[in-house]
Amino acid sequence: MTIFQKIIDKQIPAKIVYEDDEVLAFRDIMPQAPVHVLVIPKRAIVGVSSSTDDDALLLGKLLVAARKVAEAEGVAQSGYRLVINNGVHGGQSVDHLHVHVLGGRALTWPPG
Ligand code: 5GP
Repeated sequence: MTIFQKIIDKQIPAKIVYEDDEVLAFRDIMPQAPVHVLVIPKRAIVGVSSSTDDDALLLGKLLVAARKVAEAEGVAQSGYRLVINNGVHGGQSVDHLHVHVLGGRALTWPPG
């Protein structure tokens, strides 16, 4: 079981900022920006690579939730970045699909 599954199951605490039937969003424990929220599906999907065509609606809901989080966090106008790390070279460290919502400061590009 991943750490995010334990957060979904409320076995460990998290600072939840958005929740609906299918999606949960909570603050990253090691924030890399003034706003750093993780948006995850409640249904366990390891990553984009293991998602299927049947997941299209749920994948879209993650972006809709990310937009709502950005609005609620007050960064919709200033701008923000959505990141999905996938697999080893992508830098994914938790095997439960998650969208990073990063904002509140000017972010550099490209990533290292
Ligand atoms: P990844 O590197 O897989 O794209 O991102 C995983 C993120 O999960 C990291 O930014 C990390 O700080 C965050 N994270 C890891 N464990 C926990 C935890 O127990 N609680 C919270 N809120 N975030 C976590």
